[in-house]
Amino acid sequence: MEKQKICIIGGSLTGLLTAISLSKLNCEIDLIIGGAPKNQKSNRTIAISESNMNYINSLNISKSLSKNIWPCSVMKLYSQNKNDKVSEVFHLDNNNKPKKIFYMIENFRIIKLMMDKIKKIKSISIINNELISDIYDSGLLKSIKIKNNYHKYNLIIICTGNNSNLVKNIFTKNTIENSYKEKSLTTIIKHDSIKNNITRQLFLNDGILALLPISNTKTSIVYSTKELPNANELNFKKKILYHVKSYLKNPILIAKIKSRDLSILIRNNYYKERILLFGDTLHTIHPFVGQGFNMTIRDLSSLENLLREKINLGLDIGTNDILSEFTQKTKPRNFIFTISVDLLKNMFTYDKFKSESLKILNKSNLAKNTFFNIADKGFQF
Ligand SMILES: Cc1cc2nc3c(=O)[nH]c(=O)nc-3n(C[C@H](O)[C@H](O)[C@H](O)COP(=O)(O)OP(=O)(O)OC[C@H]3O[C@@H](n4cnc5c(N)ncnc54)[C@H](O)[C@@H]3O)c2cc1C
Repeated sequence: MEKQKICIIGGSLTGLLTAISLSKLNCEIDLIIGGAPKNQKSNRTIAISESNMNYINSLNISKSLSKNIWPCSVMKLYSQNKNDKVSEVFHLDNNNKPKKIFYMIENFRIIKLMMDKIKKIKSISIINNELISDIYDSGLLKSIKIKNNYHKYNLIIICTGNNSNLVKNIFTKNTIENSYKEKSLTTIIKHDSIKNNITRQLFLNDGILALLPISNTKTSIVYSTKELPNANELNFKKKILYHVKSYLKNPILIAKIKSRDLSILIRNNYYKERILLFGDTLHTIHPFVGQGFNMTIRDLSSLENLLREKINLGLDIGTNDILSEFTQKTKPRNFIFTISVDLLKNMFTYDKFKSESLKILNKSNLAKNTFFNIADKGFQF
């Protein structure tokens, strides 16, 4: 019997990981990379939870993956008061527990390892430098035009990020999308060598500054801040250095500050006639909890299991029944997760609540364990 064909559009974190995961199934995959992999030279880093790291490890991406990940076992949260004093309000210590809080990895490193793996997988064909602008009907299947030829697929998975014209053309309705009117500023700091296993999050009066260790001498910075009218790179550089000096000795910025607009996106329609949305096209959340890609990994694990079961039964994997089954499994938990992150963000940045709510949480081991488990595995239903 002819193998079913899947097309994955998008060559960043979601597209690459989806291709590797689904290559374990008995099907053919075309992976369309629109230009050079996006994060090749970026200063972005990603925090991955223990359970999701186990999933990634199960995909055997590379023997050298373990050398490229940096475990963090302690989390400290701080709050700035009206007199600008910053003090610790929350402490989670997993040093003596089997599970780390999360693992850090630089985006360009994991993208390179995934690309190297994909090049060795026979069932994946890489199609480079193609920006897909439309998807066409082709009898019972769907097709994509690549260099003047139409290629037919049972299932097309769109992983083109949260600002994709392709998605806007096809999925027009039922989307909740809102700008936070904030920017995330990312950079990397080099500093004197320390035992760098504490992740810190500073709830400042004008934003949230995260210090995320990536080695004993390097820490990744994510600063989510309001769009200030007179802000410029020099001001942000000074501000970041002013705060990190309390925790890191002799810090210097070794990467340009990159800025990105922040928004929330919740979709009602996950699929349409053999086309499934995936990754940031499906849900986008505020980065302060480091969970956007973690949500995608949980979706991917569900998708892989579902498609394996259906392929083994000889069923066509692009039908509405199967895509609807995937949606029913993932949409409720993704909706609640996205709304909860948004609520937490508003609570922790609202002056009156930020330090009091964090101090209350800090006193309860039950609350800490619950938060940790949700960050690790998402909502389990
Ligand atoms: C500051 C910041 C920090 C974050 N930290 C974390 C974290 O610690 N942990 C975590 O889990 N998540 C985190 N996230 C979220 C995470 O970065 C995203 O979920 C993830 O990068 C989304 O990847 P993606 O592949 O879905 O989309 P994108 O990275 O946007 O990639 C889309 C790809 O599709 C390609 N493309 C677009 N249009 C087309 C087309 N028409 N044809 C072909 N190709 C196309 C693009 O070129 C690009 O390569 C963070 C987000 C931000 C902003």
